[in-house]
Amino acid sequence: MAGSKYAYVRNFELPDPLLPGTFMVLRLDGHSFHRFSDEHDFTKPNDIRALKLMDHAAKDLMEQYPDLVLAFGESDEFSFLIRKSASLYNRRQSKIVSTLTSLFTSSYVFRWATYFPDHPLKYPPSFDGRLVLYPGAQEIRDYFSWRQTDTHINNLYNTAFWALVQQGGETTTQAHTTLKGTVSKEKNEILFSRFQINYNTLDAQFRQGSTLVREEISEEPPVLGISTAIDTSTTDPILASSLPKMRGRTKPRTKVVVLHCDIIKDEFWDARPEILS
Ligand code: ATP
Ligand code: ATP
Ligand code: MG
Ligand code: MG
Ligand code: MG
Ligand code: MG
Ligand code: MG
Repeated sequence: MAGSKYAYVRNFELPDPLLPGTFMVLRLDGHSFHRFSDEHDFTKPNDIRALKLMDHAAKDLMEQYPDLVLAFGESDEFSFLIRKSASLYNRRQSKIVSTLTSLFTSSYVFRWATYFPDHPLKYPPSFDGRLVLYPGAQEIRDYFSWRQTDTHINNLYNTAFWALVQQGGETTTQAHTTLKGTVSKEKNEILFSRFQINYNTLDAQFRQGSTLVREEISEEPPVLGISTAIDTSTTDPILASSLPKMRGRTKPRTKVVVLHCDIIKDEFWDARPEILS
């Protein structure tokens, strides 16, 4: 199709392909959620409704995009690992970042009323998105360790801060001053001795964030088409020999599950080698 005399402007659109065979991590973060959480009465330090809504939007994304093999979320952010062999949108960076960020945002808004039935949205929330390439499995492990460590540091600080304000009667300025320069042990001590809060017994979601993975569904039989609806107890040797092949063709059915667990230690990764394959 011949273009118009104006069509040359298309040549100013530069390709932005991502290096093949490389891990991609997409991180989304709520734009100005300090304000958004105030305006929508989020419970401090952790509003469980808001966290579950984030988890749900992330689940929607993983269900829509099979190339997403892992997600980790805390506060107003979510990180997604895109498998290194993905050919999603021909690995065009802006296409991937904009489409996935947009779906996450619309899903967040779409499901808002389920989690906040008594709080109509006052204005449309938005998320920023960025995509980073990582050369190897070690950097991916370190990336997710970095995010989960951040979850822990922030949560310990925020838990201590809001205990001082809500139960200790300090102003926010006083609470900042009280915590200034304290190490983890001291924050734990403040929580325990002054407020009888044992940090380790707090909700695992607050301490460890949310980790989304795919798990195989083992109980349910695969959905059989007409051609595969065969009596598997057949004694016909030709038919019998073709059965394992046909079963092998059936991809195991999976579902996305939300976990609150340690993703820094080896155990999580050893149990799921497919994530880094
Ligand atoms: P930016 O646009 O630069 O990301 P921001 O205001 O979103 O700015 P963040 O560093 O992303 O800043 O921090 C997000 C803030 O949102 C938190 O500090 C917290 O105040 C609030 N927030 C997010 N999720 C929750 C939640 N589930 N419960 C309570 N507060 C939350
Ligand atoms: P991509 O995901 O690559 O953008 P696409 O199918 O969205 O693929 P576009 O080139 O963006 O392709 O074209 C958008 C198409 O959507 C139009 O060609 C048209 O068929 C349809 N469309 C968009 N807006 C309208 C509208 N207001 N009325 C009717 N059709 C529309
Ligand atoms: Mg920020
Ligand atoms: Mg933010
Ligand atoms: Mg944030
Ligand atoms: Mg278009
Ligand atoms: Mg389009």
